[in-house]
Amino acid sequence: MARYTDASCRLCRREGEKLFLKGQRCYTGKCAIARRSFAPGQHGQGRKKVSEYGTQLREKQKTKRFYGLLESQFRKTYEKATRMHGKSGENLLLLLELRFDNIVYRMGLASSRAEARQLITHGHFAINGKKADIPSMQLSAGDAIEVREGSRKSPKFQEMDRRNVPAWLTFDPEALKGTVAQIPSREDVDLEVKETLIVELYSK
Ligand code: SF4
Repeated sequence: MARYTDASCRLCRREGEKLFLKGQRCYTGKCAIARRSFAPGQHGQGRKKVSEYGTQLREKQKTKRFYGLLESQFRKTYEKATRMHGKSGENLLLLLELRFDNIVYRMGLASSRAEARQLITHGHFAINGKKADIPSMQLSAGDAIEVREGSRKSPKFQEMDRRNVPAWLTFDPEALKGTVAQIPSREDVDLEVKETLIVELYSK
C-alpha cells in the first residue's frame, strides 16, 4: 500500500497547525510548529492569496492528515458519510473518530495514530474478546477494546501515555481495557475544521 514517507512535521507546517503526528515530540519545544510556524519550502514565508478552492482543499488535506488517511481511504469514508442520515460533513468526522486506530490513540494506548495502526496490525488488541488487526475497522457504541493477554506485560503498555480520554470513551489503565460508551458528537471532535468546506470540495 502506498504511504507518506516524507517528514511528518512538514504536513503540520503546511497546514499551519499541530496535527500531532509524532507522539511525545508534539508536546515538547522540539515541535516544528513551535519553532518554525510557516509553510515548508522556498516560498513558505511569502504572503499568499488563497482561492475558494484552495481553502476547501486545505480543510480536506488537514483532516485527512490529522487522521493519517490516504486520499482513496478518505474519499471512501466521505462517500460512506454521504449515504448516512444527517449532515455529510459531521458524519465524515464521526466515521473518522470511530476508526479502530483513532480509538486506540484516543485511549492513550499509542502515542500517535501511526503508532496505533502499527500496534493493531501487529495483533496486540482484541475487540469484544476477538483478535482484531484491521486499523480501519469502524467501531460502534458498546464495543469493548482490550490489550490481548500476551501483550499486557509489554513495556509499551506499561509505560503508556496517560492522556485525557474523551468522555465518549471509557478506559481502565490498570486492566488495559476500554469501551465506546457512546457515539461521539460533533463537539467531541477536537480538530478545528470547517467540514462543510470538505463537502463543497467533493461536491464539485
Ligand atoms: Fe506536528 Fe508533532 Fe511535528 Fe509538531 S512535532 S510539527 S505537532 S508532527
